[in-house]
Amino acid sequence: MKLTLSSMTKTELAKTLGLKPFQGRQLFQWLHQKRVFDFDAMTNLSKPLRAQLTETASASQLELVEMQESKATGTKKALFRLHDGETVESVLIRDRKRTTICVSSQVGCALKCSFCATGLAGFTRNLTPGEIVEQVLYLLQDEADSDRTPNIVYMGMGEPMRNYDNVMASIRLLMDKDGVGIGARKIIVSTVGEAKEIERFTQEDWQVRLSVSLHAANNELRSTLVPLNRKFPLERLHDVLSGYSAQSGRQLTFEWTMLKGVNDSVECARELVAYAKGLKVSVNLIPWNPVSGLPYHPTHMADCNRFRDILEAGGLKVTVRMEKGQDIDAACGQLSRTHGKA
Ligand code: SF4
Repeated sequence: MKLTLSSMTKTELAKTLGLKPFQGRQLFQWLHQKRVFDFDAMTNLSKPLRAQLTETASASQLELVEMQESKATGTKKALFRLHDGETVESVLIRDRKRTTICVSSQVGCALKCSFCATGLAGFTRNLTPGEIVEQVLYLLQDEADSDRTPNIVYMGMGEPMRNYDNVMASIRLLMDKDGVGIGARKIIVSTVGEAKEIERFTQEDWQVRLSVSLHAANNELRSTLVPLNRKFPLERLHDVLSGYSAQSGRQLTFEWTMLKGVNDSVECARELVAYAKGLKVSVNLIPWNPVSGLPYHPTHMADCNRFRDILEAGGLKVTVRMEKGQDIDAACGQLSRTHGKA
């Protein structure tokens, strides 16, 4: 089996392939900065080295199966096939100010949140650091004329904190100045509330941001939406988030998927205001993308606005995320369900 290179740092590339440090750096730049996966096109590497790489290594582990693009918004959704035939999805979202790439961290997910397409499929395996980074590299290939540095959000398929080491390794690769060179503040890791890993994350020596998919601020409702809440209830989550705010000084974000008649009432909004007390937090309200087979409906915009007004009156900073591509299968897990395993 050939060596796969995209999970390796510059130093690891040099060491594993028996190269000089500068050659490890050049190879890293081709893969991560220039996003070139054809060894023959890596013109500053010697011909014998290119031949050695072609013989023994594989520059890329992902194969693009399908790219959907929303005519209305320019949002793109990519479906990739992995070496073992499994598939994962990534999304690129553009708005006036920024480009955001949403990556997957696992094939499937074990946490079975009741409104999520990925949760329906169950868990298959963790992604390697390279499989995560390559999602970004592929989506950026098309963005060559854009001078925007993208934001990266770990909000695709899977619970990133359940693949902690590989996710953190992928972040280090994405931050490398000889690679994509993304600043830590432009990277957000999202969790539904893995309390122990949030404590680990709090100790990381960087400014990478944290987002918590909350969706409900009372235990009874949250446990029906996010079953992990039974293991780490809201009180425990509040404790670790207070620790995160105190130690890092960073603001965190609560994600709240708006489900009509489920978590969009005045009372739910008031519970959220009360729960946020003492935390340095802003709130993203997200319209739910319909998923066939799930018994939910998106909240009407007027009710989203009422919910937002209550949060703002309670002193919270709120963003209502606009819909980005209902004309493509925009909820993570939907493309995979359409295509299934190869
Ligand atoms: S919402 Fe996230 S954590 Fe929950 S099932 Fe879906 S992918 Fe997993």
